[in-house]
Amino acid sequence: MSEQDFDVVVLGGGSGGYAAALRASELGFSVGLIEKDKVGGTCLHRGCIPTKALLHAAEVADVSRDSSKFGVKTTFEGIDIAGVTSYREGIVAKKYKGLQGLIKARKITTIADEGRLTSPTTVQVGDETITGKNIILATGSYSRSLPGLDIGGRVMTSEHALQLDFVPERVAILGGGVIGVEFASVWKSFGSEVTIIEGLPHLVPAEDEAISKLMERAFRRRGIDFSLGVRFAGVTQDDSGVHVSLENGTVIDADILLVAVGRGPATSGLGFEEVGVAMDRGFVTTDDRLQTSVPGVYAVGDIVPGLQLAHRGFQQGIFVAEELAGLKPVIIPDINVPKVTYSDPEVASVGLSEAKAKEQYGDDKITAYDYNLAGNGKSEIIDTSGLIKVVRVNDGPVVGVHMIGARVGELISEGQLAVNWEAYPEDIAPLVHAHPTQSEALGEAFMALAGKPLHAL
Ligand SMILES: Cc1cc2nc3c(=O)[nH]c(=O)nc-3n(C[C@H](O)[C@H](O)[C@H](O)COP(=O)(O)OP(=O)(O)OC[C@H]3O[C@@H](n4cnc5c(N)ncnc54)[C@H](O)[C@@H]3O)c2cc1C
Repeated sequence: MSEQDFDVVVLGGGSGGYAAALRASELGFSVGLIEKDKVGGTCLHRGCIPTKALLHAAEVADVSRDSSKFGVKTTFEGIDIAGVTSYREGIVAKKYKGLQGLIKARKITTIADEGRLTSPTTVQVGDETITGKNIILATGSYSRSLPGLDIGGRVMTSEHALQLDFVPERVAILGGGVIGVEFASVWKSFGSEVTIIEGLPHLVPAEDEAISKLMERAFRRRGIDFSLGVRFAGVTQDDSGVHVSLENGTVIDADILLVAVGRGPATSGLGFEEVGVAMDRGFVTTDDRLQTSVPGVYAVGDIVPGLQLAHRGFQQGIFVAEELAGLKPVIIPDINVPKVTYSDPEVASVGLSEAKAKEQYGDDKITAYDYNLAGNGKSEIIDTSGLIKVVRVNDGPVVGVHMIGARVGELISEGQLAVNWEAYPEDIAPLVHAHPTQSEALGEAFMALAGKPLHAL
């Protein structure tokens, strides 16, 4: 039996855990970071980064197919999946190396094994007891399935889908949320026939309804099929493929079924309950400063109920480290965390949807302005259409920004500043957006809401 003692022990080295470790060490704490697999976690190895590499390859495929529109002659010969894989793996490997270097440079001790919480101040790793004055739980999440829907063979989650060494001819996707829609977009660009099954009435159902409807229109135009408001009934598989039946009697035949119905917290069997950490359906519940029911034990990232996003994990990790240092960090509510769906078209949003804002403030207290990207020069140049919608409280701040169109994910940084700083459109309207950029469309919406539209009525 051996022992290691730290100021802060972090269990799990994904986005939330490693951000906590980096910030804690920067603040002068000694830090032990326990990771059973690879630092970087889901986001770096199986999530954000590899899927965005796939989406970029998909964009290149589309651009090369359509290049004659821009007067450029190319011949699209097809997808070399081995080439795509090596590009994707190369990006992940570089980022992984960089992260390992950073962790080492910050003098964080990494403990490469599985840990189990054994008391409010200890984690057991093999026969070693790791002690921390404070412990941060950051064990992340796993791809969920539905009751009775077994994963295996042609029925797979995003982890398996990423590893495919072929482009399936026909794909069925269960779930029209972010992950489902992003894979649908990639496979369509790679040449597959794609059908999405979503039980709720819209694709990307967490978004403002106007944006979801435009997403549906864009996907329809791209030839991506979807069934909305229909529940999955069952699936069988054989040598010819998968046969997915819906409750309305429809059967969808495909080569594979991607199950993208959400992610569950990876918390079972890790000793949390035994130590008295309060849980709710597997998630670790915390107060608004991310402390669990056990004083001195904190939780960050996907195990904390709410948005499951890497940058929320980063923010929470930094928050807890600063909280431990007595810096009294500012709470960022989930609603003010920006969300991006990186499909073609992209969707980006922050703050309240128009419907939620009206629910919260009253119908007559809210004004929403829609700026159509058709009026934006740069969007025309890059051949994208879409919408920017800004929601404000009358005589009050911007409370929501919602966008759809190519590359709008890059614009959400301005939206999140406006919403988090509770800026009034009148504060932003006099400021200058460079021409020609897509950010001008956001500027136009702010100007219109401030009562002085330029390229709009
Ligand atoms: C396909 C896909 C695409 C995504 N795309 C995006 C995106 O574009 N943008 C975005 O913001 N988010 C995206 N996400 C979500 C993002 O990946 C997660 O929100 C983020 O990784 C959560 O970070 P985390 O630290 O909570 O958990 P994780 O990243 O899951 O990390 C948890 C870590 O803890 C380790 N661990 C678990 N238990 C133990 C134990 N007992 N002992 C030691 N180590 C342990 C695991 O090995 C893992 O490395 C995507 C997710 C998926 C699946």
